[in-house]
Amino acid sequence: MTIAYAIRPANPGAHLFHVTVTVEEPDSQGQLFMLPAWIPGSYMVREFARHIVRLTALQAGQAGAGRRVRVEKLDKHTWRCAPTDGPLTLAYEVYAWDLSVRAAHLDPTHGFFNGSSVFLLPIGHEGARCTVDILPPEGPAYADWRVITGLTPARGTRRGRFGAYTARDYDELIDCPVEMGTFTLGRFDVLGVPHEIAVTGRVPRLDMARLTADLERVCEVQVRLFEPRTRRAPFERYSFLTMAVGEGYGGLEHRNCTALICKRDDLPHLGLRDSTAGYRTFLGLASHEYFHSWNVKRIRPAAFVPYDLTQENYTRLLWAFEGFTSYYDDLTLARAGLLTEVQYLETLATTMTTVMQRPGRLKQSVADSSFDAWIKYYLQDENAPNSIVSYYQKGALVALALDLSIRAATGGRKSLDDAMRLLWRQYKAAGAEYAGVAEDGVLAAVEEATGLQLARAVREWTEGTRDPDFAQLLAPFGIDVERRPALDKPHFALLGCKLPGSGEAKIENVFDGLPAQAGGLSAGDVLLALDGLRVTAGTIDTLLARYQPGDTVELHAFRRDELMTFSIKLGTQPPPKITLRANPRAGRRAQALRRRWLGG
Ligand code: ZN
Repeated sequence: MTIAYAIRPANPGAHLFHVTVTVEEPDSQGQLFMLPAWIPGSYMVREFARHIVRLTALQAGQAGAGRRVRVEKLDKHTWRCAPTDGPLTLAYEVYAWDLSVRAAHLDPTHGFFNGSSVFLLPIGHEGARCTVDILPPEGPAYADWRVITGLTPARGTRRGRFGAYTARDYDELIDCPVEMGTFTLGRFDVLGVPHEIAVTGRVPRLDMARLTADLERVCEVQVRLFEPRTRRAPFERYSFLTMAVGEGYGGLEHRNCTALICKRDDLPHLGLRDSTAGYRTFLGLASHEYFHSWNVKRIRPAAFVPYDLTQENYTRLLWAFEGFTSYYDDLTLARAGLLTEVQYLETLATTMTTVMQRPGRLKQSVADSSFDAWIKYYLQDENAPNSIVSYYQKGALVALALDLSIRAATGGRKSLDDAMRLLWRQYKAAGAEYAGVAEDGVLAAVEEATGLQLARAVREWTEGTRDPDFAQLLAPFGIDVERRPALDKPHFALLGCKLPGSGEAKIENVFDGLPAQAGGLSAGDVLLALDGLRVTAGTIDTLLARYQPGDTVELHAFRRDELMTFSIKLGTQPPPKITLRANPRAGRRAQALRRRWLGG
């Protein structure tokens, strides 16, 4: 039996999709329907059901005439229809005005949706095949709209056009987002597998040839990492669905595609010869999501097999699934020749500096941060830097520390790549019986793949809050670690708070144990004057640069519109900034280890 969906941008200006779902043989006791509470890859309960408006149910009658069926709501995201004795159709509208990769967005320029935001699941039919009729908006203004999705075109539908598409089951249906509109399309092959990138949004003089050439290099490095012998990608085709905007950054991984959002300025334009930092950021994002095709979409924590879409799914392993992916995203760019060695070491140093500057790393382990992602990492408030460690960033550092340890101990014969390949082989060998990676399974795979005993170090880095000793870990690779006081942003270095880049000097975060906190300032306070001189977010650093650590300043600020005065003793030990430098005088052995690491 097939579950038949149809979706139409019924009113793009009002951001409304019209959706129907038909169940041929509904539950005779009354069919239940539910909408996921979260979308896999983004670990937060988002309550997509709040955007469902005007839901009705019909029992199909003769000649298309339908009889209204009573529907009642059982909980926030579950509906029950009164018992029927024939095919049942639910019709509803979905409000789509979330410009992110996680939900749905529709206006007269384009439409985008994840199935988890728009397709109700008939409970009990999770394994049923699905068809989706993707219909165009009405009117000549939309005649040029096309479609890009990882769903399979049904017979009679041309890929890239509106029409019927199919999915093996509900899980696949909601893992294949759809973009529709007049996007710019680029195509390329990776080791014989067709890939495409669609760019939505206005991007003047986009250099699509460069973009596809660079993405091809990124993808090829990763396919070769996991399948050095067969060079076979785990999908038959792959799509990058990219939304270009003024300000924005994000990505969500799927089994055979990814949805990305980026700054239009980060995409390359014709005539641009060098790569910009923004372009490297975009390539890093694309690389990150592509790596997830193996790590988290297929190799998964046991807690995600299967996903429970009604509530939080707890695992202590996001440091491996997100952190290792973050490690490999930039490493892939280095191995693909898209980051120089100097640029790669800079990105590593930035990650180290960011982690070191956040006091939260001393209070939360990355395993705890993984477990609590649902209520902490994804729900960050002004105190987050003091209370949370990022399982992305510190997880990437754990991956780095592991990779360096393994390479140094085995003279470069083994690496973290071997552990990733072992996890991948385990996934493939299990087939339909795959139970996912047990909570101690990543460490077990690392030890099995390398023959090394790393449990103590890994537990200290992941279950505890110890920082890997990078000076020691990088020495065999001929890389020096330097720590200098971070003085580039005086308000951060001397006051210990974070301000926006411009506009009023409204404090975003106050860091634990630093002068702003010691002097009584809080997040939300609006700084007005420093020693009697007016300050804004844009001017305070110039003024503060005239002062020394240890000086005392008077700050005037508004809190709840009340003028307050604070006396602050400026920092004597500004937080460190880390730089990494390849030592040109390093020995041959160190150079060889480094080449092997960064060369793949
Ligand atoms: Zn990720």
